[in-house]
Amino acid sequence: MRASPSAGTSDRLLSVEEARDAVLAAIPGPLDDEVAYLSEARGRVLADDVISLTALPPWDNSAMDGYAVRAADVATATETAPVRLEVTGEVRAGIAPSTEVARGTAIRVATGASLPPRADAVVQVELTTPATIDGTPVGERGRDAAGPLPVAVLVHAAVGPGTAIRRAGDDLSEGATILRAGSRLTPAAVALAAGSGHETIRVHRLPRVGVLATGDEIRAPAAALGPAGIPDANGPGLMALVEEAGGLPMTLGIAHDRLEDVRARIRAAEQGSVDAIIVSGGVSVGPYDVVRAAFGEIGRIELWRVAVQPGKPFAFGTVERRDGGRTLLFGLPGNPVSTFVTFELFVRPAIRRLSGLPVDRLVRPTDHAILLDAVSKSPGRRAFLRVVAEHDPSGAPVRDDAGRVQVRLAGGASGQGSHVLSALAVADALAIVPEATDRLAAGSPVDLWWLDRD
Ligand code: AMP
Ligand code: MG
Repeated sequence: MRASPSAGTSDRLLSVEEARDAVLAAIPGPLDDEVAYLSEARGRVLADDVISLTALPPWDNSAMDGYAVRAADVATATETAPVRLEVTGEVRAGIAPSTEVARGTAIRVATGASLPPRADAVVQVELTTPATIDGTPVGERGRDAAGPLPVAVLVHAAVGPGTAIRRAGDDLSEGATILRAGSRLTPAAVALAAGSGHETIRVHRLPRVGVLATGDEIRAPAAALGPAGIPDANGPGLMALVEEAGGLPMTLGIAHDRLEDVRARIRAAEQGSVDAIIVSGGVSVGPYDVVRAAFGEIGRIELWRVAVQPGKPFAFGTVERRDGGRTLLFGLPGNPVSTFVTFELFVRPAIRRLSGLPVDRLVRPTDHAILLDAVSKSPGRRAFLRVVAEHDPSGAPVRDDAGRVQVRLAGGASGQGSHVLSALAVADALAIVPEATDRLAAGSPVDLWWLDRD
């Protein structure tokens, strides 16, 4: 098929935003939704708002181990002149109360136990002493609440109505909206949904993403390298990036630099209805760079030249599948750092969009930094430098008076090559240097993307 006339065929480089917008424009919306068990739903994106199925707590209950009382009965209690109450029963967690608290009596309660009728306060066990029916102490003050039930108790302090009681619905009312569509389920959100009565939840389907490494020199893990081989870094790296972006990665192996091989692997994946295919390497214009030709034969090439460093060239295409869906095709440059940066700029937002995150959550939030090292770069391209933040002994990034993080080039002056995996692996963040700048003096302000922040 032909390349689209609007994008990429002219010599002009597209800006990062133009390229990202073109990628996102090819995504009609989030993937369909499905039901997931909460026990397997961490990290999934909600397709619907979630409503609480119950009030929380569902009933008034005790916030302490102690005695359910009527506050008026203990209004005069002091340390030296305690009030004696007859103990008429006990309510453990998980047991519905069977008796009410009559005047002059108390019912022993455990934390989380349903409050017996007519009680309006709980005295914590530490403020009581077990006693005989005539008020003689029979045990130690504040003895733990797990021993045999005493017949009476001395209360050594007054407690106001409502003390140590959790009222029904004071956390959540039944029917309240507790989670919003488009949000990602954190562990706390899983607890909230489960705690409000849900077993399952509606989430967007996970984007299925095929990962293909290319190159006659690329060797599978543990394969002998021989005189001209290198281990595959991008295949495993991209699998991990896809997973972290919220996709379901599937390996398509390592293709030779031959059109038939690359084409056959892409076609098989596409016919298996993957939502996206990421190919690393073979996307430039050398004689063995067959990825763009493969994309063009299988689908439609949307764009391929972006003003970014590292990361030129980058190819993007789409395939209309027989099943009515669309597969996105990403061709990333093979140098591992270029692969990583172009994934970050163009693929990660696409996976997040497919997975159901809202459009304002697709790229990292921008922080502000001071780059302590001098740097030069290609004019006309936006650079994404791998940087390490200075941290104080508590592990917090060091900021100046204006709140700007202090960062240095990862791997020193030689760490910025697009092949330098060791510097990439220690980087905390990407520092962004605009197109028009070709050199920055040490101490210049830069924008910053933390690699561990959404
Ligand atoms: P290419 O984009 O195919 O021209 O590759 C550019 C550079 O990246 C070459 O040095 C390749 O050997 C290297 N490269 C390509 N693919 C991988 C890979 N999967 N793992 C490690 N290095 C790679
Ligand atoms: Mg190659």
